[in-house]
Amino acid sequence: MSQRPEAPKTALKIHRLHATKRPKRAEAEAAVRTLIRWAGDDPDREGLAGTPARVARSFEEFFSGYGEDPVELLQRTFEETGGYDEMVVLRDIRFESHCEHHLAPIIGRAHIAYLPRSRVVGISKLARVLEVYSRRMQIQEKLTAQVANTIEQVLQPKGVAVVIDAAHQCMTTRGVHKPGMSMVTSRMLGAFRTDPATRREFLAIIASPSTTQLGNV
Ligand SMILES: [Zn+2]
Repeated sequence: MSQRPEAPKTALKIHRLHATKRPKRAEAEAAVRTLIRWAGDDPDREGLAGTPARVARSFEEFFSGYGEDPVELLQRTFEETGGYDEMVVLRDIRFESHCEHHLAPIIGRAHIAYLPRSRVVGISKLARVLEVYSRRMQIQEKLTAQVANTIEQVLQPKGVAVVIDAAHQCMTTRGVHKPGMSMVTSRMLGAFRTDPATRREFLAIIASPSTTQLGNV
């Protein structure tokens, strides 16, 4: 059931690729010019003159997750629990990613929970793990598994649960054109998988209405 060996190797491989084989920015901009021409427009007309540079900069932002290692991120920051052994749940974390099939945006919300054994991290670090993986080319199933596996690997908790609910623009703005449709994926490890009460508690927490007005705080 444990997926531990998988995550760090992949992260390391991506890390190295990013550092050594990355094309120059001018090559990326030239590729965007090609796509503009292929779409049927003139990359030299006034309105498009700055577009290749802007698209390259957008790519840097959308895909900044290749330059970061989420395992390292959590390893740097975990602390001893000080006796806390109840469920930690971070819910309604908005994220943006891009599907690896069309490079179209995936926009959604994630809920992340774990049951600490001896290590905890600041909640912002859980959100950062999601952010690093989401700023890569993704499929939602992989994103869900990567976040859960990384938390399991580093914190070695009694259990981890990740639920992601997201809309895929490759399905809403092209292809089957089904706006309003979202996809839900989940990965339950440890107690969340084996203990129905733990899983029920988590699902009830993420389903309950928020008591704080998140938009106002
Ligand atoms: Zn897609």
